[in-house]
Amino acid sequence: MRKANFMLFVLMCAWALPSWAQSDASLLPETTTRVSEHVYAIMGFPNIAIVVGTRGTLVVDTGLGPRNGETIARVVKKLSTGGLLYLTTTHFHPEHAAGEAGFPNGTILIRDRVQQQEMEAHGAEMITRFSQQSALRAELLANVKMRQPDISFDSEVKVDLGGVTARLLWLGEAHTKGDELIFVEPDSTLISGDVVQNKRVPSIYGDGGTPSSWIGVLDKLAPLNPRHILPDHSDPGDGSLIAQDRAFIVDLQTRARALKQQGVSAEDAGKRLGDEFKTKYPDWPNINAVAGFVQRVYAEGR
Ligand SMILES: [Zn+2]
Ligand SMILES: [Zn+2]
Repeated sequence: MRKANFMLFVLMCAWALPSWAQSDASLLPETTTRVSEHVYAIMGFPNIAIVVGTRGTLVVDTGLGPRNGETIARVVKKLSTGGLLYLTTTHFHPEHAAGEAGFPNGTILIRDRVQQQEMEAHGAEMITRFSQQSALRAELLANVKMRQPDISFDSEVKVDLGGVTARLLWLGEAHTKGDELIFVEPDSTLISGDVVQNKRVPSIYGDGGTPSSWIGVLDKLAPLNPRHILPDHSDPGDGSLIAQDRAFIVDLQTRARALKQQGVSAEDAGKRLGDEFKTKYPDWPNINAVAGFVQRVYAEGR
């Protein structure tokens, strides 16, 4: 096959792939959907929330690298009515935090203290890991440096955006140690990071939380009784996502503990529960992640 023909063949193969496989989904689109009166979302990797008030705008998460941050900044310019621009990040992972440099000068960066410490301990190592995943990711993350926040907080800070208030919360460890959750009032919209997802097996990163600490965070969230939930890596839903997530974790934790008590190895339990949960939760797309979570239950030592 001549070189030009071969290239055409390669392009045609790429064309035939499903849309999710065509790109590696690292670039955010400029389109938005409306989640609630003051909350817009760019649906991508990850979903980005934009909370618009009369006095200011809050963006939650940055996308992977400054180029995605610039995309969000262009969208913000169209949506916002002026005033201050705030940026916060749900956790330190690169697709959530490494695009900060793409935001305009004067952007007020806020995050919880635990997350900042975790970023300083593990941020560079995660950027290296993501850079090895594809050439595009390496390009997007080249020379990224994380800066100190302008405002940091322990458990809660309120940002009055004019007609709408965002409560930035740290409620404990789950997907990471520093998971931040954002509750928007009066919309009753929860921006739930990687902590509350829509039919996704939870994943605990590195020395992040434990299954029990994750349940503890969900129990603190439940009384907020949100009307809308915007997760980072799945479709928006209503407040029932919290109970759905909790029920799944409790189910998996209970089954894994039972097998542990019977003397089944963590590896075998992962395989068995992987099969069992595939049947039990057929519409959860990442059900293969069950085995990883089972290891976490075993590691909890009960
Ligand atoms: Zn993450
Ligand atoms: Zn994530």
